Amino acid sequence: ATPTAVMVATGVGAQNGVLIKGGDALERAQKIKHVIFDKTGTLTQGKASVTTAKVFTDIGRGEFLRWVASAEASSEHPLAKAIVDYARHFHFFNEPSGTTNGQNHRNESSNTGWLIDVADFTSLPGRGVKCLMDGKQVLVGNRKLMTENGIAIPTPVENFVVELEESAKTGILVAFDDSLIGVLGVADPLKREAAVVIDGLKKMGVQPVMVTGDNWRTAHAVAKEVGIQDVRAEVMPAGKADVIRSFQKDGSIVAMVGDGINDSPALAAADVGMAIGAGTDIAIEAADYVLMRNNLEDVITAIDLSRKTFARIR
Ligand code: ADP
Ligand code: MG
Repeated sequence: ATPTAVMVATGVGAQNGVLIKGGDALERAQKIKHVIFDKTGTLTQGKASVTTAKVFTDIGRGEFLRWVASAEASSEHPLAKAIVDYARHFHFFNEPSGTTNGQNHRNESSNTGWLIDVADFTSLPGRGVKCLMDGKQVLVGNRKLMTENGIAIPTPVENFVVELEESAKTGILVAFDDSLIGVLGVADPLKREAAVVIDGLKKMGVQPVMVTGDNWRTAHAVAKEVGIQDVRAEVMPAGKADVIRSFQKDGSIVAMVGDGINDSPALAAADVGMAIGAGTDIAIEAADYVLMRNNLEDVITAIDLSRKTFARIR
């Protein structure tokens, strides 16, 4: 393609919110064989919400939710935000005692007075959070977090988590003072265009793959809904780039589509890194393409634009 054709394509991209960082990136996109999609916030809306809270001991629901929210309050993770939100609503609608009235619910989002002070807060990437409350250890996260801390998962709890996962939800386990006391189910709906885009890529001869830190059962349930057969689940944040490299080692030209801090190493490792949505600054920096509209259709737009620009001069 002539420099003019590259300039025109870059302009057309920009008009559609597809920002291309240079002619090399534009050229590479035509050769993409695999597109690796992050799950949370990329294929899904990234708007997690709690759908279930089940307590397995005789403590009250309100108290349970208050402990969980207190543990998660310092975490930046989308799952943590969903949990704190849910607990806050439960608290201010069910236990209004003295702190509030119907008028000021909306202001309570900045009020953290209902939370319990925690000590030694630790965020464990790909696992969850850990802290002390009144000297007792509280753990909120996945099976790996529980296993690594020597917490047994009773059969009824395990069965309940499996049930959540089979319906594409993420099960969050909660342990207090070395025993498992409850489970939360969190749902994150697919983006509306996700299934159509996956189908479109296949028709273009491009293979879609999903990579996620989430557990394999939830990952497979989501993948099935969206039409992806190749799933890499329970991948630790650092492992996403290794997944990219394994495809490259097999001779593929690989695109990575992701939104989060977790995804930056993979975006950088890919032949074509595409940051989607508002993204995080670090993801945008690592990427070759920025898909501003947060719409997966632009993955197809990007590949099309490259194919058309470079087909003309063949
Ligand atoms: P993803 O690739 O989907 O963005 P992450 O690597 O951020 O996933 O997290 C993987 C898993 O670790 C989550 O599905 C969840 O089970 C657990 N996890 C991570 N952070 C938290 C948290 N703050 N609270 C509860 N669970 C968490
Ligand atoms: Mg993500």
